[in-house]
Amino acid sequence: MTVEPVLTFADVIIVPGKAPVEPGMVRLETSITRSHRVDIPLLSSPMDTVTEVRLAVLLARIGAVGVIHRNMTAEEEAEMVRRVKSADPSPESEVPLVSSLEEAIEAVKNGVPAVLLKGGERAIVLPEGSDYQTLGVKAELLYQLLDQGVRPSVDEQGRLLVGAAVSPFDVNRAVMLEKAGVDFLVIDVAHLHNVNALEALKNLRRNVGVEIIAGNIGTKEAVLDVIQALDGEVGGLRVGISSGSICSTGVVAGASMPTLTAVIQARLALEELGLHGSIPIIADGGVRGPGDAAKALIAGASAVMAGRMLAGTLESAAPIVRLEKGRFKVYRGMASRGAMERRYASDRYSRPSKRLEEGVEGLVPFEGSAVRVVAHLYFGLQAALGYAGAGSIREAWEKARLAKVTPIGLQEIKPHDIILT
Ligand code: 5GP
Repeated sequence: MTVEPVLTFADVIIVPGKAPVEPGMVRLETSITRSHRVDIPLLSSPMDTVTEVRLAVLLARIGAVGVIHRNMTAEEEAEMVRRVKSADPSPESEVPLVSSLEEAIEAVKNGVPAVLLKGGERAIVLPEGSDYQTLGVKAELLYQLLDQGVRPSVDEQGRLLVGAAVSPFDVNRAVMLEKAGVDFLVIDVAHLHNVNALEALKNLRRNVGVEIIAGNIGTKEAVLDVIQALDGEVGGLRVGISSGSICSTGVVAGASMPTLTAVIQARLALEELGLHGSIPIIADGGVRGPGDAAKALIAGASAVMAGRMLAGTLESAAPIVRLEKGRFKVYRGMASRGAMERRYASDRYSRPSKRLEEGVEGLVPFEGSAVRVVAHLYFGLQAALGYAGAGSIREAWEKARLAKVTPIGLQEIKPHDIILT
């Protein structure tokens, strides 16, 4: 028996390198599957408090992509996919750009903010009663992202891209999602490296033609087995086990493969096969912000998947809860009691062999529009890759370096010796 060391995001720092360009010039364009490219390396988690139509549409309009959860009937999930595919792809549907005050007043009647362009200056017009921190900031940052050249994530016909979650055992659902026009399926099990799950995935693969992101997995062996099971026809790999903010697997089952190490493992396996860069690695779980996301990308990921980062936003699938202390949103693990109860009621295929809760349920502060989170990630990643000495994600794989810090050293990296006000 050997005990292997693993690294989490907090264990490493990005080593500064010679930057080829200014941070504002860093390009974040990436692949999320073998054939789909997007401008922002972010997928939202398929979780019932995170991704439904509203968030998926917004994310694709601003260059990222959403993955619809599966905690509902297959018909309902397919319907959500159809709604995203038929939505207007223009980011201006979120925040209209107008040239006169009359048009602005007309636009805000629909409850959306508008941007009034006059003499090269942009003014934000808000609907009556809305708060600037939510809709005003959304309008401002949305156009800042567009200024960067960020384009909507679309298919060949110009329709918004969308993914949808499916259990490997649920062929019917996969077929329905494909018929609904889904761009890629995301296998949604906690531990895909299991003989029955791999056998099921093989069978599912034979029944659909759409690309499949397979996961979750965390080791080199698992990557090799998944690729073998699918005869190399893997759209992408979803890696990381038990690093999620709502995850309690590491506590109840003691099993875990921190997302950063899972990415490194996947990269080693893909490099062995000469496939790194052609099969995207999606780093899933525990990404708290641009710093963690940058570390995942440098380690070899093509994009990150995030639940917590998007859970507190206006567009997430949970309602706003008003408490004395402020506004919050519910966020829960898909293996939490509440989420599992909803699932048993709607989907017999997801009944697990074990009845163990591996997720928690709670509240996260309301954080305004998801545009703010995406813009923060975008500008933060540009800065991080700039420090790393890379002008693109591919260059980061080749040139950027991570270094390990000691737990004591971490104290110095955070703000210290100051009372924060
Ligand atoms: P976060 O971004 O919140 O840190 O992590 C989100 C990820 O956690 C999801 O994409 C998924 O892989 C994982 N996840 C979601 N629900 C559960 C759960 O109940 N238990 C566990 N172990 N992982 C979960």
